[in-house]
Amino acid sequence: MMRKLFVAGNWKMNLDEADATALAGDLRANLSGDQVFAKVDVAVYPPFVYLPAVGKVLSNSKIQVGAQNVYFESRGAFTGEISVAMLKDVGCRYSIIGHSERRHVMGEDDVLINKKMHAILQGGLEVIFCLGELLSDREQGQTEKVVERQLRNGLMAVEPADMSRVTIAYEPVWAIGTGKTATPGQAQEAHAFCREIIADMFDESVAQQVRIQYGGSVKPENASELLGQKDVDGALVGGASLKSDSFTGIIKAGLNL
Ligand code: PEP
Repeated sequence: MMRKLFVAGNWKMNLDEADATALAGDLRANLSGDQVFAKVDVAVYPPFVYLPAVGKVLSNSKIQVGAQNVYFESRGAFTGEISVAMLKDVGCRYSIIGHSERRHVMGEDDVLINKKMHAILQGGLEVIFCLGELLSDREQGQTEKVVERQLRNGLMAVEPADMSRVTIAYEPVWAIGTGKTATPGQAQEAHAFCREIIADMFDESVAQQVRIQYGGSVKPENASELLGQKDVDGALVGGASLKSDSFTGIIKAGLNL
């Protein structure tokens, strides 16, 4: 099955408003023309506070905007948190959940991530569901066990019909922001394994349609080989998404496959 590629930029806690809007404007200019978007879906995930400004720069363009995180409650005494309705209000289409920095720096667990999953799906947005093993997991031969646990817990009680609004991002933690990339073979192996688990949890057609992005030090130089793998349907890009040239280079690598 040919799944459309999906390349997204996670800006994390970087850029100020001037840089964020300038980057959005450069991307819009560099990617203008329908050719790109016929083959690749493109999104950016700015910090919460710049969502309105970046959304304005990208309005009526085909570059979608999403958030890096969200809270599962709809309103109330949750100081510092942001709801799904608030994200919709500022024009988000997606929210990431379960990013390794949320899991391992902020201590978010599978139960919280599953609550966020349901809140987003109920609220009508799309989910970017990140998962991946630590270096110590890989060294101890635990990669599949960890990935399976994250998938089964994160997707617990999700309706099969809602899986069309879920994108998985396989991001081995040891490859995020480290300059170390999984080899195309390691990425393919993990992605195929995710698809097997999803087929077991849902069915083969859900497993075949779900898009699985790879994340972890993706750059223009390694993008085509990674994106060329059978079960790699796109990339979630951190560092290299902060510069228009490198981010568009990754997107264009996808065009030439
Ligand atoms: C990420 O932000 O999810 C990521 C993969 O970062 P980097 O591309 O910098 O490794």
